[in-house]
Amino acid sequence: MKNSFLIFLFLLPTFLLGQNQMIQVLAAARKKPAPPDSVTLTITFSTPPTTASSEFAKIKYNKHGVFNLEVDDNQTECLEMESILLNYSFSDGAGLNHKYTAATAVNGYNFIGNEIGNHLGLGMQYADYSILINGGWDVMNHTNRHVDLINNNGINIIGYTEDLLVLNELYYNKIGYVMNCFVVPETFTGFVPYADDLGFLVSSSSGSNSYKPAVPPYVAVGQVSNIEHPDSALVQLKRGFLHYWAVDSQVNSVIHHFKSMVDASSELDNRFYRVGTHASQWDSAAFHGFVDTLNILSADRIWFTTAREWMEYRHTANDVVKQDTLFGNSMIISLSYDDIRNDFRWKDICLNISSDATIFNVSFTGSADSISYNPATGLINIYKQNLIFDSHLLKQ
Ligand SMILES: [Zn+2]
Repeated sequence: MKNSFLIFLFLLPTFLLGQNQMIQVLAAARKKPAPPDSVTLTITFSTPPTTASSEFAKIKYNKHGVFNLEVDDNQTECLEMESILLNYSFSDGAGLNHKYTAATAVNGYNFIGNEIGNHLGLGMQYADYSILINGGWDVMNHTNRHVDLINNNGINIIGYTEDLLVLNELYYNKIGYVMNCFVVPETFTGFVPYADDLGFLVSSSSGSNSYKPAVPPYVAVGQVSNIEHPDSALVQLKRGFLHYWAVDSQVNSVIHHFKSMVDASSELDNRFYRVGTHASQWDSAAFHGFVDTLNILSADRIWFTTAREWMEYRHTANDVVKQDTLFGNSMIISLSYDDIRNDFRWKDICLNISSDATIFNVSFTGSADSISYNPATGLINIYKQNLIFDSHLLKQ
């Protein structure tokens, strides 16, 4: 997707140099755009409009539904999944196509204290992550050690906060990436309030979630409108689970839920469905067939993305300050990103223009990467991705 060349240049030194050298190399670039971080769009109409206004799309690209796939525990099969997903894309509604993506949920160390990213055979190696991140994948925090920390009659003696932060710091130092979405290990939901305090956007689990009401309440299809307002902190997103790829009935069950989500989704009623997996009994032909079926069922109406990109879009569309000014046959839209958090990767915005005049041209100035637009529907996509983070911490 966007910035892939930049990402490659950015990540390459990470693997060639030691940790301290890497920080020096990246220090000059590791800055959020200084205020004002803003974009100005100029929309030129064929004739002077009587009315013209803009509104943020509820779902990116005006898709009707959302699908997330999450692969837990540093599974090396992610690399093959990524190469298969590269064969599939959806349109942005304005002439560009985006590949299907997924997320990998990672731990730092295994049960006997070995650093997974440094030990071949224990899971994905640090160098592998640039492939996934370049492919638009997200990396999610699955806790440093994948163990429950409740001990001593429920007293948190080791530190949930520390376990989450140590992992964020490790991956920031090794691959330069900041994780802001969390996958609950096993059923250890004691982590969730601490993830909320740290500013994680999502707690993802197929199990029980006692901290806040989970959405959807069951593991199947959810309504986007049931997710709390983005001003609230962490969202507990439920997901189904696909254990064995070699078992047709399990794959078909996920396809069945996906189809239910597609059937229930419309322009006005956006639905979502999410699924996790360990890639156990891995069967690449089964995965290929699975994605093929999902692609046909979605008919370009589903946003095949990560929880992170989805949630960051919700927050960005809520927090960007927008001002429309009509001026002759033009409309100027100014967007201020000053309130957007430093840890956000996707700061893309999709706007729907309503007017009695026809759009002739759209141009932009400011800190966006690029734009695409569709004069027939009035959709404008403003692309703005960030992969240069200030630190491993969230909520800065
Ligand atoms: Zn796990």
